[in-house]
Amino acid sequence: MVQQNLHCHTTFDDGASTPEEMVCAAMEHGLSSLGISAHAPMDGEDWCTPKEKEAAFKAEMQRLKVKYAGKIALYTGLEYDAAAEKNFDGYEYIIGSGHVLDGFYVDSTRERAIALIEHFGGAEKAADVFFANYASMAQIPEVDIVGHFDLLTKYNEQGALYDTQSAWYRDAAFAAMETLNAAGKIFEMNTGAISRGYRTTPYPSPELLRHLHDIGGRIVISSDSHSASSICCAFEQCEQIARSCGFDELWYFNGSGFEPEKLS
Ligand SMILES: [Zn+2]
Ligand SMILES: [Zn+2]
Repeated sequence: MVQQNLHCHTTFDDGASTPEEMVCAAMEHGLSSLGISAHAPMDGEDWCTPKEKEAAFKAEMQRLKVKYAGKIALYTGLEYDAAAEKNFDGYEYIIGSGHVLDGFYVDSTRERAIALIEHFGGAEKAADVFFANYASMAQIPEVDIVGHFDLLTKYNEQGALYDTQSAWYRDAAFAAMETLNAAGKIFEMNTGAISRGYRTTPYPSPELLRHLHDIGGRIVISSDSHSASSICCAFEQCEQIARSCGFDELWYFNGSGFEPEKLS
């Protein structure tokens, strides 16, 4: 059983539950540790943590660490967007994600996803820009985990917008994956779009996961949950997919680094 979730959001950014509600839900689900990953502040973006609330978020995490010591280990994380300021002070681990490209949104609505593709002149060019943006995070040593690596496909269930079997898609994704893996980044299997009803499978796709396995990649499982009720959404499904793609271990953050544990 998965013991840890390092990706979730709270009322400090665009989540519906408080950090304490998330902590209690994690304990109810039997997790031994939880990381809460606040969206990095970005001007004019209401889904991000407001800059003036960052200190309060860190203080609240500190309070909860003390209150729940011995029951659950808690970590203060940041979901950094490549378009945000690099300010990692006071965060114990960093998830690197790409939600915004050239002022266009990858994942906020289907219409905006289509507008992004049109802005870049088609799906092939959009995929090139999207994955190059991810690959750029190989250069940021603080980034530990690659968040929802193929978020671009959020509205593309069953190939509704373009074909992810195309050589151009696979080449762009594989190249970015290889760059990030060579830089030691860990990839997350992310069930956020399942709990919100957009997809039936986690990110990344099995094809990408198989490639990640083949190049010696490492994975964590996380829910990107925005409410306490989905804190461990589809974790069993993730474990099954991970195994079917060749993985026999998951990686866990321990407060100072990552260590592997066998998939049971
Ligand atoms: Zn995200
Ligand atoms: Zn997130």
